[in-house]
Amino acid sequence: MNWIDTHCHLDAAEFGADRDAVLARARAAGVAQIVLPAVEVGNFDAVRELAHQHQLVYALGIHPLYVERAAAGDLEHLAAALRRHRDDPRLVAVGEIGLDHFVPGLDRELQQRFYLAQLRLAQEFALPVILHVRRSADVLLAGLRRIEVVGGIAHAFNGSDVQADEFVSRGFRLGFGGAMTFERALQIRRLAQRLPQQALVLETDAPDIPPWWLYRSAQARARGESSRNEPAELPRIAQSLATLRGWTQADTAAITVANAKAALPRLAALSS
Ligand SMILES: [Zn+2]
Repeated sequence: MNWIDTHCHLDAAEFGADRDAVLARARAAGVAQIVLPAVEVGNFDAVRELAHQHQLVYALGIHPLYVERAAAGDLEHLAAALRRHRDDPRLVAVGEIGLDHFVPGLDRELQQRFYLAQLRLAQEFALPVILHVRRSADVLLAGLRRIEVVGGIAHAFNGSDVQADEFVSRGFRLGFGGAMTFERALQIRRLAQRLPQQALVLETDAPDIPPWWLYRSAQARARGESSRNEPAELPRIAQSLATLRGWTQADTAAITVANAKAALPRLAALSS
């Protein structure tokens, strides 16, 4: 069985000591492809090099939690990188971009400026976008109404039914991962159950968003216990989706892989 992890920060420091082993476990678990989104100009080279080194794919963008430390020229740097690598078949999207209205004290105006500018770049380069959506779905959708892009993935989606439906009607897929494995995640599980099947893609967001079996409380983490997530967990995370939909694991793999390829056309071109 083959799986695609549509969102994993494999370049993160958490994987610094054992990245090759993490990848080997992912491959052994059937995770055949992994999308590596960038978060700031400083990791553009890292995600591109990792993708080329391991036959993976990547996205370039500036994450909303990184805009405050971005330099004035970083949007131009992104534009230049997209231009320079526009013929790189492993560059599949602009991302991770978006808005975070959950973390307190962030500069929302600055986030919005980066978001809209990066949507324009996605439009210019005809690339899909990988969106960070955290209490910000309505404002993100307003941006997509102003600046139409070819679609993409709303990653770690945790919005309302109405918001989900509008993303889907705009051709977006919604990313489901570790959060879906928690029984108390009623809204996420309801979305996973009722959305049209072509809207669903799977992701780990590793090293973040651990599934329940990796989750450790803040106190446990303070004691040094790790809740690090990794792409090899994807098939077990997928079991939650399979159960919610009444699908077999094979159905779940086939459907979500087809959806990931539809969301990221260059990924489909690469594997054909
Ligand atoms: Zn991310």
